Amino acid sequence: MLQRAGCSQYSAPMTAPIRSVDALIAAKLAPEADRAALEAVASRYATLIPAAFGALIEHPDDPIGRQVIPHPDEIRHAPHELADPIGDAAHSPVPGIVRRYPDRALLKPLLVCPLYCRFCFRREHVGPEGGLLDEAALERALAWLRGTPEITEVILTGGDPLMLSPRRLRQIVGALDAMPHVTTIRIHSRVPVAAPERITAEIADALETEKAMWLVLHANHAREFGPATRDALRLLQARAIPVLGQSVLLRGVNDDPDSLEDLLRAMVRHRIKPYYLHQLDPAPGTARFHVPIGEGQALLRALRGRVTGLAWPTYVLDIEGGHGKVPIGPSYLPEGGETVSDPSGAMHRLPTHALPSS
Ligand SMILES: *Cc1c(COP(=O)(O)O)cnc(C)c1O
Ligand code: SF4
Repeated sequence: MLQRAGCSQYSAPMTAPIRSVDALIAAKLAPEADRAALEAVASRYATLIPAAFGALIEHPDDPIGRQVIPHPDEIRHAPHELADPIGDAAHSPVPGIVRRYPDRALLKPLLVCPLYCRFCFRREHVGPEGGLLDEAALERALAWLRGTPEITEVILTGGDPLMLSPRRLRQIVGALDAMPHVTTIRIHSRVPVAAPERITAEIADALETEKAMWLVLHANHAREFGPATRDALRLLQARAIPVLGQSVLLRGVNDDPDSLEDLLRAMVRHRIKPYYLHQLDPAPGTARFHVPIGEGQALLRALRGRVTGLAWPTYVLDIEGGHGKVPIGPSYLPEGGETVSDPSGAMHRLPTHALPSS
């Protein structure tokens, strides 16, 4: 690994959000020697580290710092990396909508986030100027949903839907609430960990609906869960909104059994059911985060039997080109086999009633 001068000098706790290379260097989160390379990164990808999230950084290369501090390698694009790794564009019937499955669709009302993850699969699109659907475009997206009765679940994503104003959020939730075929609204957000102060009673009010409202929180390390996050989650959970967790398996963030265990346990302690552990999508300039699938499977194997079943996520791959998400193991039952592995790896014969009848 490249030795990056200056990294060890970090000391000052952050008190202001970081949006520029200047601020990054002044906070000693990046060395002066990287300035030119980081300016090139910043001209292409958004940078924002909120003050409270930044205060969790103990070292630029620690599990919090790695997620949000721009790195010179981000402009080195590997041949296998794709601007639109999961084929969102090819599955968009109208702007702001992505539909890949018969019964559910994504609605992306904005591309703004509370911070900008360096491994983001939509990094070519998200950013502070990033496309808030204007009134007419939002109306067209809602009209598409209204006119597509097979859609029973609408997933609000972006960007981060909890960056919307309470007024705008209420308008969207209200419109979905009025669609009889929509039974479930799901919100994908990083706000409760990245900007917990945004979760106010007004936001909770805006989420009031007769439909089943679910929140899926994106968090990747146990240290993301502080007292403000706990309060934000409690506020939403008190409104009968179940919270699920999704994480990305990331090199240097959660790629060892202890870190992954701590993350999953932190979720369960916060009444969050871990839902998905995502294999990293190959977005441009994200190679330093890559963990091979075999290693991901071994990590989960190490946790089986060691942590409560409540903490167990489904490890998923979003197949390139928009073919959908599939579980990728680990598997304990070889296809067609007559033996099953226990958590320690020892094999046992299946009971005969579980075998295929011949
Ligand atoms: C991820 C995704 C979903 C949700 O998939 P689940 O497996 O139900 O969580 C739905 N639509 C699109 C386009 C997606 O990318
Ligand atoms: S919060 Fe989500 S959409 Fe936003 S930068 Fe992070 S991964 Fe990307």
